[in-house]
Amino acid sequence: MLRIGLTGGIGSGKTTVAKIFETLGIPVYYADDAAKELMNTDPALKKEIIEHFGEESYTADGLNRKYLASIVFNNKEKLELLNAITHPATIKNAEEWISQQDAPYIVKEAALLFESGAAEKLNYIVGVYAPQHTRVKSVMERDGLSAEEIMKRISRQIDEEMKMKLCDFVITNNDTTLVFPQVLELDKKFREMAEEKAVTSV
Ligand code: ATP
Repeated sequence: MLRIGLTGGIGSGKTTVAKIFETLGIPVYYADDAAKELMNTDPALKKEIIEHFGEESYTADGLNRKYLASIVFNNKEKLELLNAITHPATIKNAEEWISQQDAPYIVKEAALLFESGAAEKLNYIVGVYAPQHTRVKSVMERDGLSAEEIMKRISRQIDEEMKMKLCDFVITNNDTTLVFPQVLELDKKFREMAEEKAVTSV
């Protein structure tokens, strides 16, 4: 089974693209959602977060995302620390999930595939590229954040152009290019590659 990574900056359209793969029958692992869930359910991870970020990291309702975001989005070292704590747990969880799938290929969607080391465990990486002004507008509309807040988050990620150079395939998500046909073409390619891989490994 082929393992495909799907990445892109905040608001690039990763999740939108991932949903299209799902409609084509492909299992998708949403690493960012999984990480948030694991922060609430994995006791070892919870313990580590409390050790480094304090008891305020959790309320009676679970992870105190507002509190953690206020710390990590204003401090690069703290963001790296939180990522260093959560990524190994998420990668382990993804590996367990992948081993349970039965499909020609799976897609793992994550904002930080290269930065977390997750890319090493994947066969090919697809990047979703959207111009910065589109990304800012999309996230402002979706999350109600200010342009300044979004720019601050963007500035913490690897430069988008550089990230796309690291990808094996790039989907362009802008006002002039349709996304759906690009995903269909890749799906066809990955199914062919998966078949070739299955034949050569017999
Ligand atoms: P994040 O990293 O913040 O989770 P993302 O890369 O997963 O973002 P999406 O959530 O897929 O991005 O897209 C951001 C917003 O833009 C969403 O509200 C989505 O519906 C919208 N959007 C993205 N691409 C398109 C498109 N091609 N057509 C219409 N709406 C789109």
